[in-house]
Amino acid sequence: MNTSRALFKASSISKAASILDNPLAGGVSRSFKVLTIGAGTGGISVTATLANKLGKGEVGVIEPSQEHYQQPLWTLVGAGIKPFSSSVRKMSDIIPERATWIKSGAVSVDPEAKRVTLANGETVSYEYLVIASGLENNLDQISGLPQALGKDGVCSNYDPNSVLLTPKFLNEFKGGEALFTMPASPIKCPGAPQKIAYLAEEKFRDNGVRDNSNVSYYSGIGKIFGIEKYANSLWEVANKRNINVNLLHDLVAIDGAKKEASFKVLDGSNEIVKKKYDFIHVTPKMSPHQYLRSSGKKLANDAGYVTVDSQTMQHVVYNNIYAIGDCSSAPTSKTAAAAVVEAFVVKSNLYDRILGRKNSSQLTYNGYTSCPLFTSKNSTIMAEFSGYTGSPIESLFYNQAKESKLSYWIVADLVPEIYWKLHVKGLWNGPSEFKPLTNPFNNN
Ligand SMILES: Cc1cc2nc3c(=O)[nH]c(=O)nc-3n(C[C@H](O)[C@H](O)[C@H](O)COP(=O)(O)OP(=O)(O)OC[C@H]3O[C@@H](n4cnc5c(N)ncnc54)[C@H](O)[C@@H]3O)c2cc1C
Repeated sequence: MNTSRALFKASSISKAASILDNPLAGGVSRSFKVLTIGAGTGGISVTATLANKLGKGEVGVIEPSQEHYQQPLWTLVGAGIKPFSSSVRKMSDIIPERATWIKSGAVSVDPEAKRVTLANGETVSYEYLVIASGLENNLDQISGLPQALGKDGVCSNYDPNSVLLTPKFLNEFKGGEALFTMPASPIKCPGAPQKIAYLAEEKFRDNGVRDNSNVSYYSGIGKIFGIEKYANSLWEVANKRNINVNLLHDLVAIDGAKKEASFKVLDGSNEIVKKKYDFIHVTPKMSPHQYLRSSGKKLANDAGYVTVDSQTMQHVVYNNIYAIGDCSSAPTSKTAAAAVVEAFVVKSNLYDRILGRKNSSQLTYNGYTSCPLFTSKNSTIMAEFSGYTGSPIESLFYNQAKESKLSYWIVADLVPEIYWKLHVKGLWNGPSEFKPLTNPFNNN
């Protein structure tokens, strides 16, 4: 497999758009009742449900990628537990027949004119717009990473083109220093950078190299996990497994030739600490895509997150625009679990609105998010909480902060099935409707 920056960039929008079918080039304009930008986890749910309800020709979805990924599986792919094929489907098999797939990327949104311009030159207009284009990886923001990635033990689960290097390098590791990093800035699934550390530590034991290795987790933030209930359990896991946890250490540079990582210490000193590595799993810095970052303050904030009301996911200025998932400004932890529930709120309210049901009660989003922290190949701490209040919202009857085999089975085996069989068809709206059965006494 080829390496480095090209791997990540291959999945970026501009490149992806250029290799796609381009049947509509030449400025042909089309119009949709509902237009979605992105057919990832959030976008596909809205698209599937509304296309099904409104019928052919009413719903368009702008999506440049030929593949749809179930990204949460990449942690298990990276650990060598699941095959990559379990995490991917052809986009053509996922987008419903009643929706119109526009095979290009959005390059700008004109909210006043209600139009989106595409990489292929076309302009598409809408009555209602749902923005769900996720985040992009910014490799360049860690000096030396574009050159080092994919070589000599430098890998990342955060991209479909590099995730398979993780199990390769884990198996090649013969002992020494194994580092796992998490940036100081917002990312999707903030638990994923440490999950792979626990799974790797187990693999090193299985491979007989743990006794001559050090496993270290470096995080740019000041806590091992944002919610105390789960953080306490994670500290216990890290301590009993002899994993060194270094907080407020933000990876700023990698020197591939010297096999050395540099961390800025964010304790006010800004000291640079250098650390040799034999294996390093890097979580890159991320941001919303360029078209949002350059869209101007009316659509998005300075960082490019679409500014929405955190309960309705409706834009704060343009009430015919919604944003869901990783690219929205909703202040919760960015996960597929959150995107699923946000999509449910938006598609339900939007459908009522389109039908003119003025008296129907609007659904609201409570910040629900979930992060299954795999601690081994048969145990998981299943964090489920509101990112708005910090309170646990657990779906199951037992204490989910404890390492559990059942939690592992649910997230490693059951949820992926639900995702492919129900979610992508718009038929899964999160676990809350089952909670009276799965957690009848509402234990948290
Ligand atoms: C390694 C890893 C582990 C994870 N683990 C978990 C987990 O355990 N649990 C969990 O809940 N979440 C997890 N996540 C996070 C989860 O995958 C994301 O939060 C979720 O996919 C967000 O959904 P989304 O719809 O906002 O974006 P995405 O699913 O990323 O979809 C965005 C879509 O928009 C498209 N797009 C991009 N730019 C444009 C454009 N300009 N025009 C049109 N379309 C565009 C993309 O091609 C893509 O299809 C993990 C992610 C990773 C990478």
